[in-house]
Amino acid sequence: MCRVVALVLACSAAICMSSDWSYDGDSGPENWYKKFQFCAGKRQSPIDILPAETTVEKRKLQNNYYNQPENLTFVLKNNGHSAQVDIGNATGLYSNAFGQTFKPVQVHFHWGRNDSVGSEHTINGSQYPAEMHFVHMNKKYSTAEEAVKNQDGLLVLGTFITIGIESSEFKPIFDALEEVEGEGETKAIDALKIVNLMPDNKKEFYFYNGSLTTPGCNQAVKWIVFKDEICISALQMEKLRALKHHGDKGEASISNNFRPTQALNGRKVKRTFSL
Ligand SMILES: [Zn+2]
Repeated sequence: MCRVVALVLACSAAICMSSDWSYDGDSGPENWYKKFQFCAGKRQSPIDILPAETTVEKRKLQNNYYNQPENLTFVLKNNGHSAQVDIGNATGLYSNAFGQTFKPVQVHFHWGRNDSVGSEHTINGSQYPAEMHFVHMNKKYSTAEEAVKNQDGLLVLGTFITIGIESSEFKPIFDALEEVEGEGETKAIDALKIVNLMPDNKKEFYFYNGSLTTPGCNQAVKWIVFKDEICISALQMEKLRALKHHGDKGEASISNNFRPTQALNGRKVKRTFSL
């Protein structure tokens, strides 16, 4: 849990980014479906999670991320929509969930212009200041293009982020953010521990079937949203907000890079823990 001090894929085109869309205006989320048909699908993400309406089902997320090889590489990139860390060829590293094996591909963030907004998933309608997505690809598919065509193609681990004490685990990422303030800039990161890309408590989470939250919105994602959040400092949050992209009217802040929550359309959201 976050101790609050204030009051208060390697990335392939299929999983990643086209510049044909944005988070506001004519190319914003309300119009994504015009160019990306899956964005109008019935199993879209993110969603508003209503804990009292979820049901308990025992599931385990297991990984071997304590066995991280020495030569694993990480590259932070400002892709114009988010800050994304691509994980090099993580041979031998995997997560098991829902009877399938997934390999880690990339991690990225969604955040708000201020602390009142930012996360994509919401709990009882409330947003967190930010959300981290740790994207995995099902090992049985050989390419991301193939994975996103299947309902079990991807596993994304979502973690809410609150503002409090500085995160030392995420320091390698946040320190490097200063080097990628402009769209398209990249920076190699050392000393990142992949196991730290998840909260300590990996047993308690919500799960449901959904989609990528960015175009093409492929309905290929097994979503896990952890109950416990992670904590970063206000200064670390400001480093996310300092990132820029090429907007319609020149260089602009990437902040508020979250998609509004989508209808459940009869989907059941489950949880692994007692309320
Ligand atoms: Zn995301």
